[in-house]
Amino acid sequence: SVEVRNVDKFYGPFQALKNVSLSIPAGKVTCLIGPSGSGKSTLLRCMNFLEEYDRGEIRIDGKLIGYDAPGRKMSARNLRQMRRSIGMVFQQFNLWPHMTAQENVAEGLVRVRGMSKPEAMARAATELGKVGLADKLGNYPSRLSGGQQQRVAIARAVAMEPKLMLFDEPTSALDPELVGEVLNVMKALAAAGMTMVVVTHEMGFAAHVADQVAFLEKGELVAVDSPAGIFHAPKDERIWNFLRTYN
Ligand code: ATP
Ligand code: MG
Repeated sequence: SVEVRNVDKFYGPFQALKNVSLSIPAGKVTCLIGPSGSGKSTLLRCMNFLEEYDRGEIRIDGKLIGYDAPGRKMSARNLRQMRRSIGMVFQQFNLWPHMTAQENVAEGLVRVRGMSKPEAMARAATELGKVGLADKLGNYPSRLSGGQQQRVAIARAVAMEPKLMLFDEPTSALDPELVGEVLNVMKALAAAGMTMVVVTHEMGFAAHVADQVAFLEKGELVAVDSPAGIFHAPKDERIWNFLRTYN
C-alpha cells in the first residue's frame, strides 16, 4: 500500500502539490487524472522519490520513503533499496537501444538481482511471453513497434518483482491502434493483483479497470472516488468541467 499524507511539493516558489493525502490500497488500481499541469506526474514521482516532497509523508507498506525521519534525508543506498520494490513505466519507453528485448529485461536481473546471465535470459523470455512477445526476444527496440516497446518496458519492470507499479501516461506516446495492446497487458497485471498507480488520459481504462480514481487540479487533490462516482456522479464542478473536454 501507499499512504500519502499532507504532502506539499514546491518547484522554487511554485507549489505543485498542495496538502495532498491519498491512500493507495495494496492489490488495487488507482488512476490519477486531471488537467495538464495539475501535478499528476509530480505526485507519482514523489512516490518513488524521483521528486523530493517538501512536507508531509509518503509511506510504502508503512515505510517512509526518502527520509529516515521527518526532515532527515535517507541515504542513497537505503533509497535504492526501497526503490527495488517499486517499478516505473514512463511515457517514453526508455529501452536500451543496443540491447535486444530479452537483454533489456535480463539486464536488471543480472545487475540488481545478481542472477546468472542464463538464468536471467530464461526469466526474461518468460516475462516477455506474458506480454505477448515470445516471438520478439531477439529484436532490438528499433525493430519493435511503440506498443511492443512499451510492453518490453512493462515486462522489464515486472521481472524485478516489484510490490508497486507506477505508470505515467504509458500509452500517450502511442499511435491509437497500439494503445489497446498495452492497456490489455496492464489489465492482466491488475487482475494478477499488482498494486498499481496509473496517471492516464485513457478515461475508458480509468472507468473500467481502476478501483479508485483520484482527480487533481492545480496541485490540489479534489476528489478520490470509485470510477462510477467520478465519471457518473462527480461531486465537484471542476471534475465536470474536466470531463466535458473529453466528449
Ligand atoms: P501533464 O498532464 O501535462 O503531464 P501533470 O499533471 O503531470 O501534467 P506535472 O508535470 O506534475 O503536471 O506538473 C505540475 C506543475 O509543476 C506544472 O505547473 C509544471 O509546470 C510544474 N513543474 C513540473 N516539473 C517542474 C520542474 N522540474 N520545475 C519547475 N516546475 C515544474
Ligand atoms: Mg505528467
